[in-house]
Amino acid sequence: MLDVTELPAGQRNAVGVTLGLLGDEWSLLILREALLGASRFVDWRARLPISNAVLAARLSRLTEAGLFVRGNGYRLTERGADVWSVLLSIWAWEDRWVPSHPERLPGRVHRLCGKPFDPVLVCSACDTGVLAIDHSLEGGFGPSGSWERSVPEATTRRRSVGDAGLFPETTALIGNRWSAALVGAAFQGVHRFNDFQRCLNTSPTMVADRIRTLCSLGVLSDDYRLTGKGLAFFPVVMCLVGWAQRWYRAEEGPALVYRHLPCGTDFEAALDCSTCGDRLTRKDVVPTS
Ligand SMILES: [Zn+2]
Ligand SMILES: [Zn+2]
Repeated sequence: MLDVTELPAGQRNAVGVTLGLLGDEWSLLILREALLGASRFVDWRARLPISNAVLAARLSRLTEAGLFVRGNGYRLTERGADVWSVLLSIWAWEDRWVPSHPERLPGRVHRLCGKPFDPVLVCSACDTGVLAIDHSLEGGFGPSGSWERSVPEATTRRRSVGDAGLFPETTALIGNRWSAALVGAAFQGVHRFNDFQRCLNTSPTMVADRIRTLCSLGVLSDDYRLTGKGLAFFPVVMCLVGWAQRWYRAEEGPALVYRHLPCGTDFEAALDCSTCGDRLTRKDVVPTS
C-alpha cells in the first residue's frame, strides 16, 4: 500500500503540487544524486555546485514532502526513489535534444541486456509504445483537474541554480508555472494564442513571453505547434503525471484521466528498454562514464 498524501478539495491538485516540488532544478539534481548513492550532506556538496544554504533548504523541503527520511543522513523513501522514471526521461531527452549541454551526461546501459538504451514510453497494461502524436490516449482533466489547480502556487523564490544549468531546458519547460501550463496545453492540442491565454488565464504579456521562450528553445514552432523536440518531451510529462497521481490524491478524484484506446484500460505510464524491449526498473539502469 502506497503512502499517498490526501489533498483537500478545491486546492492545488496532484499535478500542481508535483510541479511545485519537482519543477525545480536543484531538487531534481539532489534526487538524481541520491539515486546514484548520495545520502550525506557532504556527498551532495561534493557532487553539485550547490551552497550549504540551498542544499539544506531543498533537503528539508523534500524531507517534509516525504521523499527523504532523516536518520544517519538522508535516505530516499519509496516516494523519493519513485522519481527515477521522471529523471530517466529527462536524462534521455536532454541527452538527445540539448546538444550544448553544460555538463557531459553519462551514457546508460540496461543491466538485463547489457546494452545502451533509451527509455520508451509504453502503456503499463498492454506494453504498447505511446507517442504524443499517435492519438492512442483519450481523456484529459478529471474531477480535480483544471488549469488553475494544476499549476504550482505563485512563488517569489528566486531561481537559484544560476550558472550551473545542469538541466537547463527541462527547467525552462517545467520550472516555471506558466511554462509548465503552456507545455500541458500544447500537448492537449492548443496552438492559438487566444486559446493559450484562456487556458493559462494570465496576462497576454506573460503568455507571449512564455511562448517566445519555448519557440527559442525549439520546443514550439513559429505557428505555436509542438516540434519534434517538443513532442519528444511527452515521456517526461507522462512520467511526472504518473508520479503525481501515485503519491497525491485530491478528495474529488484524479487531476488527469487517460484511457489507452488500443487496450481500453486507464493509462499508466511505464518505460521499456529500446534495445531489448523489456520493462525497465530503477535498479536496471546503470550509468556509464
Ligand atoms: Zn494499453
Ligand atoms: Zn534492455
